[in-house]
Order: sequence, then structure tokens, then C-alpha cells
Amino acid sequence: MVDNPAAKFASMRGKGPQEAKFFWTGGPVEVAERTWFASQFSGCTAFETDEGLVLVDTGTRQFAPMIAAMLRQKTQAPVHTAIYTHGHIDHAYGLEAFLLPGQARPRVIGHHAMPARFARYQATARHNAALNARQFGGTVEAQEGEAFQAFAAQPIAPDTLYDERLDIVVGGVAFEIHHCRGETDDHSWVWCADRGTICPGDLFIWAVPNDGNPQKVQRYPWERAKGLRAMAALSPRALCPGHGGPVTGDTALIVRMLSETAGFLEAVTTRTLAAMENGSPPHVDIVTEVALPKSDSAWLQPVYDDTEFLVRNVIRHFGGWWSGRPSELKPAPRAMLACEIAALSGGAERLATRAAELGAQGQMRLAAHLADYALEAAPENATVQQQVAEIYERCAAQETSLMSVNIFRSAAAYARAGRPYR
Ligand SMILES: [Zn+2]
Repeated sequence: MVDNPAAKFASMRGKGPQEAKFFWTGGPVEVAERTWFASQFSGCTAFETDEGLVLVDTGTRQFAPMIAAMLRQKTQAPVHTAIYTHGHIDHAYGLEAFLLPGQARPRVIGHHAMPARFARYQATARHNAALNARQFGGTVEAQEGEAFQAFAAQPIAPDTLYDERLDIVVGGVAFEIHHCRGETDDHSWVWCADRGTICPGDLFIWAVPNDGNPQKVQRYPWERAKGLRAMAALSPRALCPGHGGPVTGDTALIVRMLSETAGFLEAVTTRTLAAMENGSPPHVDIVTEVALPKSDSAWLQPVYDDTEFLVRNVIRHFGGWWSGRPSELKPAPRAMLACEIAALSGGAERLATRAAELGAQGQMRLAAHLADYALEAAPENATVQQQVAEIYERCAAQETSLMSVNIFRSAAAYARAGRPYR
């Protein structure tokens, strides 16, 4: 379906100096004795044992054949056990590509919460296709088929589920599998002490952790932090992340990467909770006032998720859905509100023009509010469509995270079609 991964990645990318770290593609890299890592967008680790391979993660359905081909340059052992670090479509949906012709069905291990995730994807396949179209910068029609199929299809299901921790031995090699909520509720990390290798799944991705994602279900940055500290305490010799390249032969660096990321998440959580404790102000006031941690480290740049969105997820977990603004408790239909604002302003075109003026001054947050109202008040107006689309594109140009860049780009595509976000 995707012939050219490089082109696919280019369309998915945010921007920023460190994006290449997150989007590292390559392999097979020998990370330890009889252990190889390869990645096409998401990473897979193969541990060869005398009984067969232990495979940690399996890529997307589309890219798995390429990852398998890379790992198969090094080992022809059948897959004995596959461990899905979590049920996202870029980790749990590619196992078939790694199986040898005629080999026995491997054992497949996942956390207890994983089957419910797969069922949810099937029940909300169109919803998820729309969300992902926006996350990757387009309209749902432009990606329909591919995006829908990704969520409607079922992966090879786990046959072995666990709750907090599972220890296995394959071919004399021991593996610890630990549950840790973070990016998902069904997340695991894997430690192979014999090979000194840690596989954190998406608990480490060479970027600000994806614990804020604006369109996805609840995430748990404060629990991810605990998992990262537990991994750091093991002093791994090799790190094979969910996204980005592997790190080998530098335990101090690996420990620092894991620990710094934990500290970053702890800072976001502590500061957000402190703001909530201060009289529980409206959500937007917390989001715009909390001091976001920043780092110069290559693995803590907001190239995929946006630190501000992590604040949102802390608020969501510890709070309710109400934003704290009286009007948003029982809101008017948006089109009605937008028409009222436009009428007061002298019309939707006037609103859009003012939005463009603010945009030209670099006040993108304010400009985007007015742009929203202008388009919602006059979605058929070609001048408004054009101006609003340009404002969203300017918003995208100022952002560093893939999420923000692409959601604004997607909004621009919808604006040009005269459809406010739908
Ligand atoms: Zn992933």
C-alpha cells in the first residue's frame, strides 16, 4: 500500500532540528549478542535464542515486511514468542511478516488491557481514521481506505495476557515483562538482563513523550515517569526504543536519557497539579500559565507531541470535562455564536481580515480564535475560506510538534473546502 516509506515519512513529519532522531529508520543494528534492532517508523527487536526468536514489537502492517527483511538478514530462526509492548497499530499489527513459512504459531504476549483496545479500534474505526487523518495533516477522505483499514483490521491476537509482571525463559534466555501505563493503559516494557537490553516500547521515543496527544484517549505521564526510573535503575547496556534509533555501549547515556525524560514528566505533572490546587482555574488558564519544562537534550524536543498537551492530559485525568468557563457548561451551537460575533464585528470577512492582521503580527493564538469564528460564520465564503486557511497554515509554520503542525495543516485543508473541521 505504501511503496515509498521515505515519502510517507516526509508527509507525516513535523519539523524541528531533532526530528531525524524520532524518525530514524534503519537496521539491522546488532545491539547485543544475537540481538538485532531495526526500524521503519517504529522499531522491532529480535532476540535470537536456541529455541527461536523473541520478538519485541512488530511494526505497522505496511512496514513490517521491510523490518522483517532487515532482521532476516541476520537470523532465520522461527518466531517463538512475540511481545507487543502495546496495542497501537505501529507495534502490534505486523507479526505475520516475521513468521517463517509453515512455522508453528508463536506465543503472543500482551497486557490484559490489550484486547479491549483492539475491540475499541474496531468499534470506532471511522472515528480513528478521521483522527489520524488530522494527526497526519489531511482530510479523512484523502486517506480513507488506508486509514480506515488500519483500524478495522485485527492483528494476531495475544494468547498470553498478564497484569503487573510476567517472567519468561526462552532457549535459556530470561525476559522480564513489566506493565507501565504511559502512552497507553496496556503498555509493557521488556528487560533482558542476559543481553543487558531494555525495550521500552513507546515509553521512550527520542522526543517529548506522546502523553498529550490532543485527539486520543487518556495517557499517564506521571506513571510513565515511574517506569522510566525503574528502567534506568537496571543500568542497561542497550536501549531499543519504540521510535528512533538504538543506543548501545553507553550505559551512562542510556540512564541519563531515561532519567531526564522521567524528570521532565514529573515537572509537567507537579506544576499542573499545583495550578489545579490553586483554586482550580479554567483549563485554558492553566494551560497558558503553567511554565513548561524545556530541555536541550536531543531526546526531549517537542517534535512529535507538544509539552502543552501533556498539561491537558494531567488536567483531564484529575479533573472533569468542563473547561471552567461558565459559557462552556451549556454552550450555544458554535455556528450561532460565530454568526453573532461576526455580526458584532462587521461581518465574517472583517473578522478574517482582523485575524490575518493579528497573524501578521505573530499573534497566532489570538488570530486562530477569530479565524475559527469567521469560517464558522461563513463557511461558503471563498474569501473567508482562503484567509482562514492561510492563518491555519501560518499557525502550522510556527509549531515544532508533528501534532500541532499537522492538525493546523488539516484544519487548513478543511477550511479550503468550506468545512469547519468536518
Ligand atoms: Zn509507536
